[in-house]
Amino acid sequence: MKKIFLFALFLTALACQKKETTKETDKTTTAVNDEHTFSKPDLAIVKHLDLDIKVDFDTQTISGKASWQIDNTSKGNEIIFDENTLTITKVTLGDEEKETKFELGKEVEFHGKPLHITIEPNTTKVNIYYSTSKDAVALQWLNPAQTADKKKPFVFSQGESIWSRTWIPCQDSPGIRFTYNAKVTVPKDLMAVMSAVNPQTKNDTGVYTFKQDKAIPSYLMAIAVGDIAFKSIDNRTGVYAEPSVLKSAAWEFADLGKMVVAAEKLYGPYRWGRYDVLVLPPSFPYGGMENPNLTFLTPGVIAGDRSLTSLLAHELGHSWSGNLVTNATWDDIWLNEGFTTYVEHRIGEEIFGKKEAAMQDVLTRKDLDDNIAEYGSTNPDTRLKVSLTNRNPDDGISQIPYVKGYNFLKVIENAVGRAKFDPFIKNYFDAHAFKSITTEDFVKYLNENLIKDDKALADKIKVEDWIYKPGVPSNIIPSVSEDFAAIDAIQKSWRTTGVKGLSQKIKSTTEKQHFIDYLPADITTKEIESIDAEFNFTKGGNFVIKRQWFVQAIRHQYKPAYPAIEQFMIATSRTGSLMTLYKELVKTPEGKTWAKQIFDKAKSGYHATTVQAVEGLLK
Ligand SMILES: [Zn+2]
Repeated sequence: MKKIFLFALFLTALACQKKETTKETDKTTTAVNDEHTFSKPDLAIVKHLDLDIKVDFDTQTISGKASWQIDNTSKGNEIIFDENTLTITKVTLGDEEKETKFELGKEVEFHGKPLHITIEPNTTKVNIYYSTSKDAVALQWLNPAQTADKKKPFVFSQGESIWSRTWIPCQDSPGIRFTYNAKVTVPKDLMAVMSAVNPQTKNDTGVYTFKQDKAIPSYLMAIAVGDIAFKSIDNRTGVYAEPSVLKSAAWEFADLGKMVVAAEKLYGPYRWGRYDVLVLPPSFPYGGMENPNLTFLTPGVIAGDRSLTSLLAHELGHSWSGNLVTNATWDDIWLNEGFTTYVEHRIGEEIFGKKEAAMQDVLTRKDLDDNIAEYGSTNPDTRLKVSLTNRNPDDGISQIPYVKGYNFLKVIENAVGRAKFDPFIKNYFDAHAFKSITTEDFVKYLNENLIKDDKALADKIKVEDWIYKPGVPSNIIPSVSEDFAAIDAIQKSWRTTGVKGLSQKIKSTTEKQHFIDYLPADITTKEIESIDAEFNFTKGGNFVIKRQWFVQAIRHQYKPAYPAIEQFMIATSRTGSLMTLYKELVKTPEGKTWAKQIFDKAKSGYHATTVQAVEGLLK
């Protein structure tokens, strides 16, 4: 999540692989205990979903039938699903649709309720008739005014981490994988897309069918419905967006195909067929979400100068780390995000060069240091393997799994060299393709295939310290960028020499970000004003620059930026960026009052998960 994501020749190979995978998945799911699902996969487990649903904008509900092919491994009389705020109307068994008993268990905060369904020892299919409610956390219903084109309504889903159960009754664990087909009926003037093979044009019937023949976990179930159009970039990549956004989006993401090729060169074939991107309206709560075949993206990435496309490299990276090899429980989320942040940096290096990569590396290190400082270096949440028992698993999605995970992998890379590390990672993805694994599975694989019995190497890497201890181990690799060193030198001198002409020396988004981040703590309002006059950050910055600049503006009470800050915070729903600004605001009593005023105005446009996060902070 956060920042994105081909075939005929591989078809036979893939088909074989899938068979083996299914067996392996069974082993994994019986061994792993995921605290965030009610389902008991060792009793009976889902294998395939046939979804037949209708999307109704008048009632803002999705309703229909989820037909699950199951494996009743224990030959018992029950299968358990997860549900949260759904209305279950009827459950039947088999193609003959014999009605059966079902019962909802006790509600648990964040988790919803277990759905117990009576089955027979030989049951292979369970049909659940249901509808969603207004409280479905995964679904964001937008009226036309909340879209880019302002003509038609829009709805999209966000399943990670445990929200898919609010729009589909499912065994909602990242350790349980299934394939799916879907038939989706939508208003005739709208188009539906999913995390699957997608249509490229609207049809007259309003009925769309989808097929995902790779086994995915439930959090990667995704749908979007709206006035959506498609533009191809090359033979396997393309962009979906509202018509008015389509052209600029396709221009911005022109490198998409090149990124897929760069990633394949490092980590082996892209196994999902097409790789497309859907640009969502601004209330999408994340930078990006790596839904298979179709990354969901914030429109904030369209900067007009291709300066924020590293986010695409991240979401694309998930096609290997996350979607192909998945964390078995939310406590292992670093296996998704740490690896993906590492892959993102490597793709970035291929596409944008070593100098840009070095700058990104320094920025990432700052993120890590800031995060550890915020949590405290002994806080257990700064371990890579976290414990999210009785907690909302979204709490585990801090910067730690991303940036500490990335730095851990850099330590291993540095210890063995890329000549060994690159094939190791490629083989790791291969060996665990279409499987969900735990941190311990990774450690075992690392010991068996890279560290072996080399004690000196083990001492150099310090696996246990990185994974199971809080804070940052002392063997972290220093982050160095000559270009940033030049900016640091400017930073030391501009207060005496003046700011005139600086914008000619500090040009790229990355450089500007670094310059803004390290402005002197005692900067005066007059100095901030002169910097803004030179760079035009308040009005002219892209999404990332504005976010960084507004932190400084709030901190140093630079009032001319206030209207722009308010506008920015109302227009986006990106939880991470918003939280950065809200956190800065609540540091002073006046700031907190202003934060509450902004939240009141902005709330109705925010995504449910964003509202939850901001409310928690403003309490
Ligand atoms: Zn991610």
